[in-house]
Amino acid sequence: MDLHTIEAVLRPDTRDELPRYEIGDAFLAGGTWLFSEPQRDLRRLIDLQALGWTSLAADQTQLRLGATCTFAELDSYAAAAPWVAVALVQSCCRALWGSFKIWNAATVGGNLCLALPAAPMAALAVALDAECVVWEPSGAERIVPAADFIIGPGRICLRAGEILRRLDIPLTSLRQTFAVRQASLTQEGRSAALLAGRVAAGGLVLTVTAAVPRPLRLAFQGMPDRATLHAALDRATAATGWFDDVHGAPDWRRHMTLRLADEIRAELLPCG
Ligand SMILES: Cc1cc2nc3c(=O)[nH]c(=O)nc-3n(C[C@H](O)[C@H](O)[C@H](O)COP(=O)(O)OP(=O)(O)OC[C@H]3O[C@@H](n4cnc5c(N)ncnc54)[C@H](O)[C@@H]3O)c2cc1C
Repeated sequence: MDLHTIEAVLRPDTRDELPRYEIGDAFLAGGTWLFSEPQRDLRRLIDLQALGWTSLAADQTQLRLGATCTFAELDSYAAAAPWVAVALVQSCCRALWGSFKIWNAATVGGNLCLALPAAPMAALAVALDAECVVWEPSGAERIVPAADFIIGPGRICLRAGEILRRLDIPLTSLRQTFAVRQASLTQEGRSAALLAGRVAAGGLVLTVTAAVPRPLRLAFQGMPDRATLHAALDRATAATGWFDDVHGAPDWRRHMTLRLADEIRAELLPCG
């Protein structure tokens, strides 16, 4: 779509060339959302691609996932990676039902920053206990736990002019056993519930997304029984409620979340 209010598209090559933030600025990543609807409040786009960030790099302790890494790059990297959680990475990539054009353009950072409840990269980042590395306009960096990055539908913790630079994912998380479940109203519909369970130190770490307005991370010592799991989910959602839009009614999303959480618990029970 033509964005007729845009007066300038800036392509900084280095961090020093990033312009001072002005009202009406937006950072452009893959553009799959930015170019999909009118953006009447925007005047400038600041393209992040020319900064040339490395998409994926692993060292002894962590996987660094650049914010401009695309879904296609992440999925094909995971296919050849040695970690147990590769299946989780691929399931989260595939939870975004888009054509190859979308997959080759949509970025990890754009997905998190757009902060749709159905953002699969939010599920991935929270499930893996990732840290979000944020560039501040002053030149400093700050770290935000992935579980705190999204604060509501379309709302993130970044302040004006801040950029999500990358996700740092501990390799310990990538080596742990996972189970993942997803539900949509239609076969290729947007996620209405996307859950990931991880066994950590004999306990269950359960991440719930899509069914709730913002990602939910529940940690249990040991494997909870069914009643404990359901009670914890209802307690955790008491304040926020269940998400409601055309992709699923709140009572159905709750029903599916409890059911998928049961399935995850049953799958991981022997590992706990
Ligand atoms: C067919 C189709 C299906 C889709 N399905 C889903 C779905 O199931 N779930 C879902 O979540 N989304 C979905 N989307 C929406 C969107 O395509 C994805 O969320 C995508 O990952 C957005 O990434 P992008 O790189 O294209 O972001 P862009 O469109 O470039 O940017 C999105 C927003 O994030 C900001 N932003 C981008 N990168 C950064 C950064 N590094 N730092 C700070 N701000 C930044 C931008 O300024 C903008 O506000 C779908 C889109 C299409 C067309």
